[in-house]
Order: sequence, then structure tokens, then C-alpha cells
Amino acid sequence: MFEKALPLLESYFGYRSFRTGQEHAIRAVLDGENTICVMPTGGGKSICYQIPALVLPGTTIVISPLISLMKDQVDTLLQVGIPATFINSSLSFREANQRMQDALQGKYKLLYIAPERLESSDFIEDLKNMEIPLVAVDEAHCISQWGHDFRPSYRHIQQMVHSLPQKPIVLALTATATPRVREDICSLLKIDEENTIITGFERVNLSFSVIKGQDRIKYLVDYIKKNEKEAGIIYAATRKNVDQLFERLRKENVNVARYHAGMGDDERAGEQERFLQDKASVMVATSAFGMGIDKSNIRYVLHFQLPKNMESYYQEAGRAGRDGLESECVLLHSSQDVQIQRFLIDQSSERNRIHAELEKLQQMVDYCHTENCLQEFILNYFGETETEPCGRCSNCTDDRTSIDVTKEAQMVMSCVIRMGQRFGKTLTAQVLTGSKNKKVTELGFDKLTTYGIMKDQGAKEVSDFIEFLISQELIAIEQGTYPTLYVSPKGKDILLGKHQVRRRESAKVKQVSNADPLFEELREVRKKIAETEKVPPFMIFSDASLKDMCVKAPQTS
Ligand code: ADP
Ligand code: MG
Ligand code: ZN
Repeated sequence: MFEKALPLLESYFGYRSFRTGQEHAIRAVLDGENTICVMPTGGGKSICYQIPALVLPGTTIVISPLISLMKDQVDTLLQVGIPATFINSSLSFREANQRMQDALQGKYKLLYIAPERLESSDFIEDLKNMEIPLVAVDEAHCISQWGHDFRPSYRHIQQMVHSLPQKPIVLALTATATPRVREDICSLLKIDEENTIITGFERVNLSFSVIKGQDRIKYLVDYIKKNEKEAGIIYAATRKNVDQLFERLRKENVNVARYHAGMGDDERAGEQERFLQDKASVMVATSAFGMGIDKSNIRYVLHFQLPKNMESYYQEAGRAGRDGLESECVLLHSSQDVQIQRFLIDQSSERNRIHAELEKLQQMVDYCHTENCLQEFILNYFGETETEPCGRCSNCTDDRTSIDVTKEAQMVMSCVIRMGQRFGKTLTAQVLTGSKNKKVTELGFDKLTTYGIMKDQGAKEVSDFIEFLISQELIAIEQGTYPTLYVSPKGKDILLGKHQVRRRESAKVKQVSNADPLFEELREVRKKIAETEKVPPFMIFSDASLKDMCVKAPQTS
């Protein structure tokens, strides 16, 4: 059946060949296999069900959560002569009814529906009287609690599929599925995990960078001036931020547009149009902007604040360079953003989702603090395993040498253990720097051997360093109302002196000069680890490990 696919692609869509993932997906569907197809936004997922819909008899059902995109898709299909329609809440009852009558007579090759329709038993009864060879589930991550956009109504899909008299093929499509979400999609939609097609998350024309510890406004203004003639998007966290940046850039005579949900429909549409038609070079917006936008010449996407998770980040950043030309994705990071995002998550998420959202936020923070390739970090996040450093990102091109910070790492982790692994980053940094804060003294932490062990440094630097240790998975976070730190198994190996920790030079944590207090401290902490984990003490206090410490200490100072 696949032979029919290519001529259809040419005659209806005018494309001369399939992209690799498309061909795999279409072959699998035409072979009757339930399949999941994970491709980035703009990767061409629609073709994966539109072509099979043309090859197969009957009407393909497409489930999509985005009402506005449904209409666009259907319009495009109608333009090229493919009979298609949609049914969602934007239609009147009569209109929806009429379309369903037409669908029952087999007038459409594709019928797009909103998932909420599946909650109506009348609607399901109608579907039973149609010939449905294929059910395409767009934005399939919406089915998973672990995704970033859970829609309870997606849980009705499998029931619907199951109730149809002739069992249709199921094709799930998404741009953003972590391994955990993929597992969920597969188990809920009865897809064999072997039928997973993942392609092309790497965007070779994008270079990623994370900028920390800079005056953000200044950086932003300089950046825009430097790229004055280019089109770019600035993403900010709140409407207020957008308005402020917008005013600021106007003062700098930048030709800027803005977009957020607090503006009137007309104004918003007008601003979007100005940007799309190159009348404004910069768009300052909240994450409300960009869905379904097809502007190919965006040269940079700059995030003024931390997005809430990697999915959102890659989707937004990925709007740069659609034309394949070199483009930049810059993230300006400041640690106070994490608090803001935490607050937003706490306010807006359903109770049972808060934990998952906080974990995702932490991975976003890890992205900011990793010293490994940023592109690789992203690809690994989305489940691609065989990756290599990109050579373009701000970490790959960072030529500062790295220094040994094993001792500093040991101090921090010792302190975390001393504090009972029940407290957060701020308090830990205060104890390490010898703060006289009331909470520190009330809890008696000023009596700890690790109190003030890093007092020659600022609380902010130590706090950043802790964040770095978290990104290296040496310290882990227990999420909750108050996130608490604990030392991971990998971190314990560092305490036991098994490996080194290295960090890039300009990182501000200063080297400690005197290793002796740490040496005593480590002896104690190692004993504690041994007690809690029932590791035979001789393993910890073996001469080799002690000698190791003694030899290493002067080298690192
Ligand atoms: P997704 O749903 O994965 O975000 P779309 O299905 O909307 O992506 O397709 C994105 C764009 O890719 C479309 O505008 C289409 O023009 C283009 N496209 C899709 N398949 C092909 C192909 N085989 N050859 C060339 N262009 C394609
Ligand atoms: Mg799509
Ligand atoms: Zn890189």
C-alpha cells in the first residue's frame, strides 16, 4: 500500500519526498501497526496521518486539543482538495449536527474532533456507524499526567477506539514526550513500545546558550542592538514583565511588538501581524505567543526568564531558525526566577500535579547549571540516547579550563548530612557561610562542625555552587512545600573520595587553603554514612582512602 503514498504526497501537497520519520510512520500505519511518532514541532507530523487517510478507505479521526489549529489544518486540506472537517465547541449545535450527518454519509476523508466530544455517548454511537480505519491522536502527551499539558478527556480515547466495531489503527503524535510520557502513551493507547518512531530533535542550525550573573536588561538591550536588523522573540514570564520590556525597548528606539493574554483580541492580532510581516523586528511576549505561528526567518529567541520546563523551553526556542539558517537561543538565568516559577506552579497546578511540575522545573534549572553540551542535554531529555556534543553551544565553546572543586563539594555535602538532610538550599548555604541568621542558631546549626566552613565566600556563590552540585546529580532534591536537599549515591562516592568533581574556572567558588578541618570532618561524615548504610567501616577507613585524602589535599589548595 505504501506505493500509493508518494504519488499522493506529490499530487496533493507538492512535496517530492518524505522525511525519514514520515516514511517510517506511514509504513507502520499502513502495515496495521499501532504506532507512536515523536517528532519536533515543524517536523511534519500531520503528513503521517493525512497520507494514510488518503490511502485507506473511510474517514480518519484526528483528535486534537487546539481548536484554533483545527480550523487552519482543515482549511489547508480543503484548499488542496481533500474533503475534511472539524467538530468542536466553536460550532453551533446545528452546525455540529449537520457535519456529523455528512460524516455518517462518508463525505470526509478526515474528521478532526476535540477530545471533549468523546465524553458524549451519542457522539460515540455515531462514530460506531462510520467506517474508521485510523485514529490519529495529535499532541498525544496530553494523555499523560507526566506530560506538561494533561487533558483528562484524552483518557476517553482508548474507550472510544475499543468500542468501534472494526478495530482502527491508532497513531499517536507528539513533539514533546520524555521516556516516561512515552511509556504512558503506549500503555494507555495499547501501542507496542517497539513501534516508537523518534526523529530529528536535533536542530543543527541552532546554538544554545545560558547566560548567568549578568545585568539582564543591559544584556538584552545590547543583544538586540547588535542584532538590530534581525527578527527575534523575547519571552518573558509575566504580562507585567512583557509590558516593562516593551516600554524599555521602545525607549531604545527598537521596532518592537508585544503579545500577551491580557491584551484585547484586536490589538493582539495586530501586533502579531506586524511581527509576521517584518514591520516589527522584535516580539516581546509571554508563552501565549507562538502556537501555530509559521515565521521562518526568526534569527534568535531570547528567554528573559526561566521557562517552567524543558518542553516549553525547547518548543519556544525552536521557533528560531525554521528556515535552516544559523540562529541563536539564549536563556538569561537568575536564581530568583526559580522562586517565581515555584510560586506559579504552586498557584496554578492541581494538587496531584505539583510534584511532577516541580521535578520538571528542577530539570530546567539543571539545564542552566550543567557544564556539559546544552544541545545534548536537551536531546537526552527527550529520549535520544546516541548523542554527541554539538560544538556550538555556550558550554561547548567555553574554553575556560576546569578546576578541581572536590573539597568544596565534600564540604557542602558534609553539611547537608550534618543538617539531617531535611533542609533546603538557602539554609544550607547560610550554615556553610557561618550566617548568624535566627533560624540557624535556633536549630543549633551554629554548633555544627561544618558551620562557617566556607565563610570566606558569599551565600550567593555557595548557593550557586549547590545548584551546580544538583545539576551534577551529587545532591538531590526532595520536592515538597519546602524542597529539601539530600546527598545522592553519586554524591556519597565523592564524600568517600572515589572521584573528583571539576568545575569551570570562572565559577566564583574560591579554593580553600587549609584542608585540615575538612579532613577531620570527612572522617566523621564517612562514619555517619557507614552507620546509616551498614557499609562495613573498614571499607570506608581503609588506609588507601585516608592516604588518598592526605595526598590529594595539598594538590587542590
Ligand atoms: P508538526 O505537526 O510536526 O509541527 P506540520 O505537520 O505542521 O509539523 O508540518 C510542518 C511543515 O513541514 C509544514 O508547513 C509542511 O509545509 C512541511 N512539510 C511536511 N512534510 C514535508 C515534506 N515531506 N517535505 C517538505 N515539507 C514538508
Ligand atoms: Mg502538528
Ligand atoms: Zn554543545
